[in-house]
Amino acid sequence: MQTRFIMVTGGVISGVGKGVTTASLGRILKEYGYKTTLIKIDPYVNYDAGTLRPTEHGEVWVTDDGGEIDQDLGTYERFLNENLSKRNNITTGQIYKAVIDRERAGGYLGQTVQFIPHITDEIKNRILQVSNGYDIAIIELGGTVGDYENIPYLFAFKSLEREFGADYTASVLVTYLPVPGHIGEMKTKPTQQAIRLLGQEGILPDFIICRSKKPLDKERKKKIEAFANIVSEHIIAAPDLDTIYRMPLYLEEQDIGKKLLKHLSLPLRKQPDWSGWKQLVEVIEKPKKHIKVGVVGKYVSIGDYCIADSYLSIYQALMHAGAQARMGVDITWIDAQNSENNNQGLNQLDEFDGIIIPGGFGSSGVEGKINTIRYAREHNIPIIGLCYGMQLMVVEWARNMCGMPDANTTEIDAKTPYPIIDILPTQKVILKDSQYGGTMRLGAYKADIKRESVVYDLYKRKTISERHRHRYEVNPKYIDILEEKGILFSGQHVRADGTKLMEFIELSPTVHPFFVATQAHPEFNSRLGAPSPLFYGFVKACYDKKNHNFSIARVHGIAKKECVLF
Ligand code: GLN
Repeated sequence: MQTRFIMVTGGVISGVGKGVTTASLGRILKEYGYKTTLIKIDPYVNYDAGTLRPTEHGEVWVTDDGGEIDQDLGTYERFLNENLSKRNNITTGQIYKAVIDRERAGGYLGQTVQFIPHITDEIKNRILQVSNGYDIAIIELGGTVGDYENIPYLFAFKSLEREFGADYTASVLVTYLPVPGHIGEMKTKPTQQAIRLLGQEGILPDFIICRSKKPLDKERKKKIEAFANIVSEHIIAAPDLDTIYRMPLYLEEQDIGKKLLKHLSLPLRKQPDWSGWKQLVEVIEKPKKHIKVGVVGKYVSIGDYCIADSYLSIYQALMHAGAQARMGVDITWIDAQNSENNNQGLNQLDEFDGIIIPGGFGSSGVEGKINTIRYAREHNIPIIGLCYGMQLMVVEWARNMCGMPDANTTEIDAKTPYPIIDILPTQKVILKDSQYGGTMRLGAYKADIKRESVVYDLYKRKTISERHRHRYEVNPKYIDILEEKGILFSGQHVRADGTKLMEFIELSPTVHPFFVATQAHPEFNSRLGAPSPLFYGFVKACYDKKNHNFSIARVHGIAKKECVLF
């Protein structure tokens, strides 16, 4: 069937949750039986998000095929419960690079290459390629209407509408309705202006989704209806909710799915069943049991605000695992620098049921993380290490258990006598040539798991696949001596040239309730209803710790059928 296109734009301010709205629409249409894909357009000139500072852009999302992308793609994957490709993210950098490369290769046969039609056609063609084979493609345009950099994309949207006709396209405007403190009244004027700005590009919204603190009342609905000249049923309320996972349910209460399908002249293919989703959302909103987890990482203050957005996927993975285990996870973001040379910071760790050492780069807080790992290891606090977290767990083990006092990663100390974590020769060449973009070990890699291991008990599989984003690896020279003291390298990836890359480490459940780490980022594969087995085992171990149920030697595997609910 001919793909239908839904174009989602934003008005008033950015950061109102357009990504969650788009993801929710995707999930809803999928529930009605339509093969739906989601595309994010980032109008910046960077080729991808890989070289952007986390404080600039939040966490970088990694896809199976190695894309380094905006977090919205993560939201899409989580809501759709499907893997997306890096092609589902389009940036201005990619569009221009493709056009210029083609021009250099003589692809335009001597024509003058211009903004219109060449840039706008490239955008349209990319959208058509990615949506090929899907019933519905929802395309979210980053930023807000009225941004200069959005002009070519709005032009391309208009041209999709012209080419396929109004029945095949829908325009959804997500706006924000502020309630200024001194007035205390919800204002519609900014939304009216956003509608006008969109109109200037020749696009009229077919649906308006109104983000706001509280639900939209009748009065404001009427005002917007009159101004936008669309039926009031197409004006949808989307107030702040306790959890983003409530959003599809909230939108469906207003029949958004049926209305969109009707607009696109599509029948209802199946009746959605939200029961599994709803159950999990209710646990997130009102958990009966709780655990406390500390994420010991790097936090940056910007002005009066502290930014910890780079751990968004860890937060999500803990939510998913908690919901599945029917418990709430209270997360405390702990600055690793607190534990750098101060025992008080470490003693505070006792109040947590579990600790996570997240991924990261550079030296900030590293010694604090290493002290934390030692404390958790010696005090039987469940802990997981992710990427850098695993590397530092190996460093801590080498230093404190294997008599290598100055062991380190060469990322921090290039001259360490014990380079336990080192850069691969191939990566050395890349860095020497300053080729920073897209050159890490990126995307999905398979790991072979040892049968007698905690990781096997968690995943219940011999071969697993998780996503990666790093340059450094455990130095194979040290594996035997590290293992002699009891740590187990329980998963590895073997490259085509025979090089072995360490993927998982663990301590036996006979000596520690839960001490597991991975070079990968399993948080990128975690979904509501299908949590990451590593996080699921961790939250259960935390619950046991909380209840002084120190069942060292118990491993919480996730039964296969328990893993995917819908
Ligand atoms: N800095 C480490 C490396 O590049 C870890 C990266 C990460 O945690 N994502 O190998």
